[in-house]
Amino acid sequence: MRIAALLITACLTLTAHAGPQDSVKPYPARKIAPDTWVITGPLGEPSVQNQGFMNNPGWIIAGDQVVVIDPGSSVQAGRMVVNAIKKTTGLPVTTVYNTHIHGDHWLGNQAILDAWPKAVLIAHPDMIAQAKASEAESWVRLMDQLTRGFTKGTRAAIPTVATYDGMTSRIGTRAFKVHSSNDAHSKTDIMIEVDNGVLFTGDNVLNGRIGRLDDGTFKGNIRAIDNGLATQPKVVVPGHGKAGGIAVLQAQRDYFQTLYDTVKVEYNAGKSDFEMKPVVAKKLAAYKNWNGFDAALGRLISLAILEIEQE
Ligand SMILES: [Zn+2]
Repeated sequence: MRIAALLITACLTLTAHAGPQDSVKPYPARKIAPDTWVITGPLGEPSVQNQGFMNNPGWIIAGDQVVVIDPGSSVQAGRMVVNAIKKTTGLPVTTVYNTHIHGDHWLGNQAILDAWPKAVLIAHPDMIAQAKASEAESWVRLMDQLTRGFTKGTRAAIPTVATYDGMTSRIGTRAFKVHSSNDAHSKTDIMIEVDNGVLFTGDNVLNGRIGRLDDGTFKGNIRAIDNGLATQPKVVVPGHGKAGGIAVLQAQRDYFQTLYDTVKVEYNAGKSDFEMKPVVAKKLAAYKNWNGFDAALGRLISLAILEIEQE
């Protein structure tokens, strides 16, 4: 017993103290479209097991330079991404888009700047404002807690360039168009449309995983997905889960719309959140295998009711 306890303590100690140059374990990068690479992070919440890494960093080789989207949740995740980028190209990263305020997507910025100090970081103006106010600090702390210290040494490299809806930037040989919103997944969301037919959605769209909506709205998120559909993308890269075609957008839209509409019918029939839960779950049966389905449903129903009451 005592030896077992000692071994467990030793293991925890090992995972708890990351060295200054530690990196998240390598994940394979996949070419999903011309010049476009994505690392598909594991599904689930940040943890000791996944070293806090669970989003989908992507990069586009645009002529003589590289554009990165969401380089991960910590400097350690960012280093893993930098190593993966260097395996696909010797060209420098000049631009980074961060899709929204949640730190699992952008705390890897630090590693990009360590490797390419001149890289420009771009995000929604409210993402920048919230990060500066308190969110950057609280996300750094949260990652440290959830990984039991693996992400120690991570500092928030907050974007400096604010973007806006419709902003199109010619970077190297490619064009990048921003689709911005103030009421979707986090109210600080941008989606990036690349001129090779790839749409990076951030957490407005997930695949195989149920996201939180505590910082957003159903109606705004559905509208953002409609804007994504209007771009007629060939490849959709969600914030979490596997990339795919237009069906990835349609599934997330259907999940939100079905949940919202069902809650509205039940609410108008006088049902409480607790009473309507089995009915809503049944309507959403197509998504019951998505990661976090059961854990998230009660909360999402409550949020839908709050939104319906404000209509
Ligand atoms: Zn998010």
